[in-house]
Amino acid sequence: MNSCFPILLLLLFHPTLRAQRFEYVEPHMGTEFRIVFYASDEADANAAAAVAFQRIDELEHIFSDYIGESEVSRLSATAGTGQKVAVGDDLWKVLTFSQKVAKKSKGAFDVTAGALTKRWRQAFRQKKFPQAQDLESAKKTAGFKKVKLHKNHQVELLKTGTQLDFGGVAKGYAVDEAMNVLKKNGISAAMIDGGGDIAVSDAPPGEPGWAIECSVYKAGELDTRMFFLRNRAVATSGDTYRYLEWEGKRYSHIIDPRTGMGVTSRQIVTVVAPTCMQADAWATALSVEAGTGVFRHLKKKGIEVSFSRY
Ligand code: AMP
Ligand code: MG
Repeated sequence: MNSCFPILLLLLFHPTLRAQRFEYVEPHMGTEFRIVFYASDEADANAAAAVAFQRIDELEHIFSDYIGESEVSRLSATAGTGQKVAVGDDLWKVLTFSQKVAKKSKGAFDVTAGALTKRWRQAFRQKKFPQAQDLESAKKTAGFKKVKLHKNHQVELLKTGTQLDFGGVAKGYAVDEAMNVLKKNGISAAMIDGGGDIAVSDAPPGEPGWAIECSVYKAGELDTRMFFLRNRAVATSGDTYRYLEWEGKRYSHIIDPRTGMGVTSRQIVTVVAPTCMQADAWATALSVEAGTGVFRHLKKKGIEVSFSRY
């Protein structure tokens, strides 16, 4: 018998070679989550995708500040009351990480900016610039030093009116968590895109990586850039779709918590990082003036950044 025969048989029945491509889309966290992966069995694939979406849904009900009963909304409601609130593992993990990014970015990224972001969201809806005194009072409630982390996962919000907004980081965390669910279900070649916060595991069969398309400005026009990635995450932040045009200036939905103002620098920031939570938070942080000191820290963490300016 030909000595190659057993190897051929092995290759023929190797799971990645028999793998089919599956794709699923569901709305979550105010955007569309797309899950693409390779698997050999349709029923197993459907079941794995369903559990991944369940995990995203669970996280939405923890982090959303649009849901009045979310863990984050309930925590924000205790601001200034002196209460120490024991929070769950997910909130503790994302909050402690966010506090580190806030410190490193000198407050450019700050999840305590919720009163300001709510005021700006309202301005976007009304297409009207926010009142200066509203911004001034909202600004007083923001600042990462107004959060005290106690032992046993207890959180205290020191200042009345402080509202938490995890919109700049929670989608990335949800993408990471959904990827972990897929891995636990034996799916090793996957891509999860949570509205521009993307994580990829192993490359599709026979490919160098997952083809990722990101928005860039080329000569003042929106364009795309393509690159291949595996076992990494990428996030993009910028003013491309959500902004307020007022008296000739464009104000982004990303605000500088230190000034209370929507960012006006026209740029798209793309961050490639080991986790999607890192990519998401840093893409938001670097859309605001975070100081040049952060780049050494980012390099140490294996985080790469590219700016595309209008
Ligand atoms: P992203 O699209 O990931 O850049 O996140 C933008 C969202 O993060 C906004 O819509 C706000 O909900 C929130 N946000 C805005 N500015 C900041 C900031 N400076 N730090 C943290 N979160 C912010
Ligand atoms: Mg972000």
